[in-house]
Amino acid sequence: MITLVLATHNAHKVGELRKILGDSLEGIELVGYDGPEPVEDGETFEENALIKARAAAAFTGLPAIADDSGISVDALDGAPGIHSARYAGTRVDTDNLELLLKNLGDNPNRAAHFTCAAALVVPPPVGSMGPDGPAEVAESGEFVELGIWHGSILDEATGPNGFGYDPIFKPAGLSVSSAELRPDEKNAISHRALAFAALMPIVRRELL
Ligand code: IMP
Repeated sequence: MITLVLATHNAHKVGELRKILGDSLEGIELVGYDGPEPVEDGETFEENALIKARAAAAFTGLPAIADDSGISVDALDGAPGIHSARYAGTRVDTDNLELLLKNLGDNPNRAAHFTCAAALVVPPPVGSMGPDGPAEVAESGEFVELGIWHGSILDEATGPNGFGYDPIFKPAGLSVSSAELRPDEKNAISHRALAFAALMPIVRRELL
């Protein structure tokens, strides 16, 4: 069994990810991470996912995966984007989605998409640490994949499931919000599902 650290403190995301990863975890023990949270000062989803995975891999000495995600609204020039979690300044989901609805107003352009960057960082083997830190393999042990879920912003929140902006996001081709999807329905098509579907073959290739 290979141990893989999941570098997220968001309990809802941990639950979703365990379900999404499902069978692709065969031979892999996924453990949580309660070490220090790094400052997410990247300018892209990819950079922030790597920052989180790097911090967990460095702290534990184990391979780590992380994700960074958010919603981007075309008519708001891509906002809230990487600032989705704290858009309203409170980290409260309903505050965030209400601010988004207020800022979008009655703009007829409702196009939006969720993005998820999924990262894997494999620390260099013990013994390859030089006096200046990790040896030359540091770059080659980092992988990141993107998933994008297209849709539009509804006029008001609806639906009991999911989290974050799910109640105001209508996935393209569906007539309900993503908070009205069953968890298994969302987990089959979401940005997070797409990103980890691309990353898990790399995880298995690198670790098993
Ligand atoms: P992160 O934890 O830094 O990746 O922040 C992600 C934020 O983006 C969350 O707090 C939500 O506000 C939003 N978000 C990401 N994925 C989803 C999703 O699947 N549904 C709804 N909101 C999401």
